[in-house]
Amino acid sequence: MIWCNSVVSYNYCKFQWLLLCCFLFLAHGENIKRSDFPDEFLFGVGTSAYQIEGAYLEDGKSLNNWDVFSLSPGTIRNGDNGFIADDHYHQYLKDIELIQSLGVDTYRFSISWSRILPRGRFGDVNPDGIMFYNKILDELVSRGIKPFVTIYHFDFPQELQDRYGSWLSPLMQEDYVHYADTCFKNFGDRVKYWTTMNEPNLFTQMAYQNGRYPPARCSQPFGDCPAGNSDTEPIVVMHNMLLAHGKAVNLYRRDYQHEQGGSVGIVLDCLMYEPLTDNELDQEAARRGLAFSIGWALDPLTFGDYPSEMRQYIGNQLPQFTSAERKFMRNSIDFIGVNHYSTTYAKDCLYSDCSISANRATKGFLDTTSERDGVQIGELTGISSLRVVPRGIGEVVEYLKERYDNKPMFITENGYSEPQTEGQDQDAIQDFKRIEFHQMYLSSLAQAIRDGANVKGYFVWTLMDDFEWIIGYRIKFGLYYIDRQTLARVPKMSAKWYQDFLKNNTQTPVIRLSSELVHNKADS
Ligand code: BGC
Repeated sequence: MIWCNSVVSYNYCKFQWLLLCCFLFLAHGENIKRSDFPDEFLFGVGTSAYQIEGAYLEDGKSLNNWDVFSLSPGTIRNGDNGFIADDHYHQYLKDIELIQSLGVDTYRFSISWSRILPRGRFGDVNPDGIMFYNKILDELVSRGIKPFVTIYHFDFPQELQDRYGSWLSPLMQEDYVHYADTCFKNFGDRVKYWTTMNEPNLFTQMAYQNGRYPPARCSQPFGDCPAGNSDTEPIVVMHNMLLAHGKAVNLYRRDYQHEQGGSVGIVLDCLMYEPLTDNELDQEAARRGLAFSIGWALDPLTFGDYPSEMRQYIGNQLPQFTSAERKFMRNSIDFIGVNHYSTTYAKDCLYSDCSISANRATKGFLDTTSERDGVQIGELTGISSLRVVPRGIGEVVEYLKERYDNKPMFITENGYSEPQTEGQDQDAIQDFKRIEFHQMYLSSLAQAIRDGANVKGYFVWTLMDDFEWIIGYRIKFGLYYIDRQTLARVPKMSAKWYQDFLKNNTQTPVIRLSSELVHNKADS
């Protein structure tokens, strides 16, 4: 039994098989197959550096913003931190073996900025850091797995925060370009897919609007931070991030792309918005929701300026790009990285009552809710704002297709976390809900592709349970369970499912759809 490897006992493994077989027997419904996707479509699995690596002060790595943040009491649930995380720094070889055993075409991971440039551009490149990623890249390439690399996924050297306030300052653009250049120079010969940054739209909100991610800046009514301005700072931060992206891509195209032959994109948090009612005002609010979250980043990188919807409501507060900037920003992505987890309802705040934090220009004068007429939009997950709404992935891809002229897209993250019951670890190994989630979302995606959406790949989030930022280790998205005592990697049923799916195994479990999911699907 190939699946019974060294990390699980043989008997336990047999028990897993038995469960899966029973499940197969009982289940009925739609059976999505790899062959429902185009031949050249890439399937992968993703991680990010800070969430898995650990070794937070080893071999020359400096403290980064998340290390320092977690040292401050009360910031992360259970007082968790990423100091050890999944110990991937030491166990990377084993992890690459797991990745290979899944049968994926590609692996998305990020580089730790503070590991290769501990002091940003104020110090030297750390050779041990470079060596670590060289080993990962060499291993992946030699096993025929395409590296899909995120340059920046939320973590940066603390020194950049302490010196000049990181992303609030235009100086961060220079640091970012220096960092990206270091990555292209050292790793670009083996990397054909780069993404400059992960979810700048979510980051600005979490770090500068509600102040829950470092540097934890915000103002009332969004939160109670010692300093910050929730209305103005996210806008400044996004501007600096977009310019940093544009400059780095310009550099890549000028100095590297021709020789290295890679492509470069950006990854955005792509929450789908649906109108709360059929009312024209709510429909408009849903359109604004998409423009204020996705268009905020993608319009400048495609058309050279912020969305007209944002200009209309935020006006002069929205920074201007100079004509030179517009030129290098325009068309500065080869593809769009789509992180999609959920869908929400949008309600208009321009003409109806809303909370004071929703009823403001920078939020697009809209409120969000997961409930319509007492019915939830989808099943609850481990993160209460993320509901299971499979049709949403098709809808968001359709939106991007229309707005951005069907630019190539990769689903860079899509994943499920089980709701938690106090004191009980429900999402251990028999994670049927996760399988169900991926099957449903993949079905919706396959339909969107048949309808013409130019989607090139799909990454399951995530390889193994990890440090889920401010939620710590309680919430789990992994295909592999991590025993927090021994750090052993234990395959969940979903890992087995993904492996079978990737083999186009027609025996892939056909998952029984819960009534709620059937309802959602029928809606679409
Ligand atoms: C982030 C991941 C995170 C995931 C699930 C995404 O916003 O890119 O780092 O683990 O959400 O919370």
